[in-house]
Parts: sequence; C-alpha cells; structure tokens
Amino acid sequence: MTLKIAHFLNENRPSTPCLVIDLDVVTARYRRLQDSLPGVVISYAVKANPARPVLEILNAGGSHFDAASIYEIEDLLALGVTPDRIVYGNTIKKEGDIAAAHAHGVRLFAFDSEAEVEKLARSAPGAGVYCRIITTCEGADWPLSRKFGCELDMAHNLLLMARDLGLDAQGLSFHVGSQQTNPRQWGHAIKRAAQVFHSLADQGLELKMLNLGGGFPVRYRKEVPEIEEVAAAIMEAMRREFGDTLPRMFIEPGRIITADAGIIQTEVVLISTKNYDNGVRWVYLDVGKFGGLAETMDEAIQYPLATHYNGAASGPVVIAGPTCDGADILYENAGYSLPLDLKVGDKIQIGGAGAYTTTYASICFNGFPPLQAHYI
Ligand SMILES: *Cc1c(COP(=O)(O)O)cnc(C)c1O
Repeated sequence: MTLKIAHFLNENRPSTPCLVIDLDVVTARYRRLQDSLPGVVISYAVKANPARPVLEILNAGGSHFDAASIYEIEDLLALGVTPDRIVYGNTIKKEGDIAAAHAHGVRLFAFDSEAEVEKLARSAPGAGVYCRIITTCEGADWPLSRKFGCELDMAHNLLLMARDLGLDAQGLSFHVGSQQTNPRQWGHAIKRAAQVFHSLADQGLELKMLNLGGGFPVRYRKEVPEIEEVAAAIMEAMRREFGDTLPRMFIEPGRIITADAGIIQTEVVLISTKNYDNGVRWVYLDVGKFGGLAETMDEAIQYPLATHYNGAASGPVVIAGPTCDGADILYENAGYSLPLDLKVGDKIQIGGAGAYTTTYASICFNGFPPLQAHYI
C-alpha cells in the first residue's frame, strides 16, 4: 500500500468494501513500460480498469487504447481520445458495432475467423485489420487463448482473403495469457508470428505490424519477472526472427498498468469454525467473488493480504465472501493464513487489486452494491 493510500484511508475512513487507486502509480507504470520498450506503441487494454481518471492519465501520456466493445470506444471518444489511437481489438464483434466504430473513425480491427473478415469487409471497408493467432497460454495464471486466435495456416489464408476483399491487411496479434510469468512465452509466439510474415511475403503480402498483446505480470503473492526482463526477452526474439527490419510493434498491457496501483479495503464480517476439534477458521469478508474478486476463480489470482497485526502469529484459514452463494469462497487450497488474533470488524487490505475488480463486481447480487472506488 502506498503512503498516499494509507493516508487516504486514515483521513477518510471510507465505508468498506472499497477500492482505492493511487493514480501516481498508474503514471509510473505507464512510463516504466514506455522506457522498457522504446518505440513500441502502448495500447492500454481498457477492460482492465476503464475508470475515467485512469483513461485521462493515459490519454494525456499519448497512449493508444485497445477497446473490447463499442461502449468502451464511445467512452474513449467522449474523453477526447482521437479515433486513430483506438483499436477495436475484440475478435467477436456485432456487425452493427463494427459499422458504428468505423463511422466514429476507428480504423484498426482484430479478427480470427473468416466470418469476421466478411463482416469487416462489409462494414469497415478499407480499414486496417490484423489476425490474432492462437497461443498455448502455458505459464499464465489467467489463460485466455483457447477462445481466441486461429492456427497459422488459417491466419495466412484469412489475411490474403482480407486483402482480396479490399481491407488493409496489416499484421498479426497474439496474447500469451494474462499474468504470464514466463518471459520466454513471448519469444515462442513471436517465432510463430514470424512464420506467417515470411509465408505471406512469399505470396506478395508484406505485413507491417505485430501486436504482442498483454500478459505482463504483476507481483501478487509470488515474485514475478520485472518488466525489463520481459522486454529484453521480447526484443531479443524480435531481432532473432525479423533481423534489422522490425515491423511496427504494439503491446496491449492491462493488468500491469493498474493492478499495483490499488488496494481493496475490506472488513471481517465473521470468523467461525465448522466443528469443535481444532477446525480451520473460516474468515468471511465483506467482499467476495461477486463483489469484484472474480479472478479468485479456481484460486487463479492470489492477492496478497495485509492486516495491522504485523508479524503476529498466524494460522490457516479458508477465506470467503459475504453472499449466500456456495461458490463465493475465495481461497481454500492456496495455503492462506491470517493472524490468530484477527477479530470481527478488523480491516484487511487486499493488494494488487487495481485491475479486473471494479468491472467484475455484480450489479446487486444479494443486494450488495457494486464495489465503490476512490481514485486519488
Ligand atoms: C485482456 C486483454 C489484454 C490485456 O491483458 P493483460 O494480461 O491484462 O495485460 C490485451 N489484449 C487483449 C486482446 C485482451 O483481451
């Protein structure tokens, strides 16, 4: 937790649960990414945290934006983001939404299927397009890719088809899986992408851009490679595969820009055991899977927890949310422990909570309002 957040919590005592984001950290993460990958276009994945103050900071810094829907595109335009800095990066789009984005001036779209190329050719004639290739997502804590992307031979054919239908076939994209902790995974994907660049060059189609997606990891409970290490692995693979004439490179970071900037302040609602013989403690918080912590599904993302009992003796716990839903258990097998002195009413700070939380909160499941957020 940054000093700024600690101060805010102390002064304002906001009701819980709430997310508090230190915007200085957002600025710092964006700059560090820029410094690590000079010349690479940063296209912020809006879905990670679409809050206005976050988008404003990135817009002022010249960031591009990767939008998942026409709604995100319209929010960006309303903020004054110019359409030449917006990519419609979802491979699954209604044709009416493609047409609306095109009418707004958006000129870069993703696809991974023949039907999507046909939609784009009809409703965004002449627009720039790129094809997403499939990756294994091995090494990622929050994999994405079985749902997205196509194999290399299909990408090759679809890009030729896009060109023949009058689209501007610009290049390829991939996503190595979110919270990817193995820097070599970018290298594998770059190698696969380069094969398509070469096979298409043989057919007279010179691709000019490669979008390396997101996936840059943040530190939750475990150490992860620093961004500079990932960046070095990326540039090494790019030079190995493309030599001195690199295509225009994009990245689409989400998590790494906002996760570290935020904590969720939560309160202990109940501590109990299920039997009298040394039963493990169940700790119920006022935030759970439906209140913004959806990424605890399968205990995939393991947030660090902090209390004011620094260094005190602790014991194993099961951690659950406040709703009347059996699925609303956060951690049962991940080996969490909490202080033995923990009491009902104590506050717990959930770290790394600035990405994929507010927008994952349900509207009013069990009557609980969506997660409140403070941007400071
Ligand atoms: C979600 C998403 C991202 C962001 O991924 P992170 O792992 O948060 O960096 C980037 N690109 C696409 C296409 C996405 O769907």
